[in-house]
Amino acid sequence: VIILGIETSCDETAAAVVKNGRELLANEVASQMDIHKRFGGVVPEVASRRHVEHITLVIEEALKKANVSAAQLSAIAVTKGPGLVGALLVGVSAAKAMAFAHQLPLVGVHHIAGHIYANRLVTEFQFPNVTLVVSGGHTELILMEKHGEYQILGETRDDAAGEAYDKVARALDLPYPGGPHIDRMSKKGKDTINFPRAWLEAGSYDFSFSGLKSAVLNYLNQASQKGEAIQKPDVAASFQESVVDVLVTKTMKAAQAYGAKQVLLAGGVACNSRLRERMTAACAQEGFPLVIPPAYLCTDNAAMIAAAGYIEFLKGNREYMDLNASPGLMLGST
Ligand code: ATP
Ligand code: MG
Ligand code: FE
Repeated sequence: VIILGIETSCDETAAAVVKNGRELLANEVASQMDIHKRFGGVVPEVASRRHVEHITLVIEEALKKANVSAAQLSAIAVTKGPGLVGALLVGVSAAKAMAFAHQLPLVGVHHIAGHIYANRLVTEFQFPNVTLVVSGGHTELILMEKHGEYQILGETRDDAAGEAYDKVARALDLPYPGGPHIDRMSKKGKDTINFPRAWLEAGSYDFSFSGLKSAVLNYLNQASQKGEAIQKPDVAASFQESVVDVLVTKTMKAAQAYGAKQVLLAGGVACNSRLRERMTAACAQEGFPLVIPPAYLCTDNAAMIAAAGYIEFLKGNREYMDLNASPGLMLGST
């Protein structure tokens, strides 16, 4: 089974070819990071236009690198949501056009299911497993007992982890997206400032990062009012330690409570070196096998969409020419 994946939910135009849900034949990503950088965030209209300009080329390039013709494909899998509606529509329209032209089955994929299935391009799943999803728009702990079925154990009540990284980075005058910059800067600093950790009610797997973000902003304001020198690397390191502390602790609690056979990391923030370090140590100590996709499979890509689409394809789930973008799509709904 050879599936072409298409992903345009945010600011990467991506196409990939994956064999049997696990074997990566091609993975093309055209990032728009440089255009959005000067605005300090993703501008939806600009993103849609760029997707339109790049989508055909990116798909052609993926097929060419995989050495696969459209006629050899088993299906097309596309991100149908969540994301920016105008951005999603470009991928959905391209997928529908190709499916119609080549008479191929069409499969719709939830973007976060894609992030989770990036792990299956690395290692076969063992069930039950617990995934920590940490991305630009999501922070969730997800339990999977079988392929394609997701139970949300907890989620953020306010900002996503990536969003918190990006907002704090902005306050530290770092470029967008700020996550990688905070990661790098933290290595030059120390965890000297005791920022809060939002544990929430006992037993809750939910997250909250807005209090931490405010604490960092207050710290910076007060220091500048008092005319004190700000050690930015220490602020970055202390903020990061607070985020990672909560993420790792709650993931370990969930893994224990549900007898996880595997712990998976997913989403752009899974690139974070401190999160990888501490999750690796915690899983080794508690005896949970840990899977972390390489960085290029953690940030947005279409290989993960093809990998998740493969499961939907096997289940017989199909979309037709009335498929629309679903900007607010919930995980587990169709
Ligand atoms: P979603 O998947 O929720 O729709 P998204 O697709 O925009 O959102 P991703 O592409 O998965 O999000 O991840 C982007 C986020 O990852 C950004 O917030 C970015 O700052 C963050 N990020 C990337 N690398 C790192 C890193 N090394 N440390 C911390 N955060 C990082
Ligand atoms: Mg992105
Ligand atoms: Fe994403």
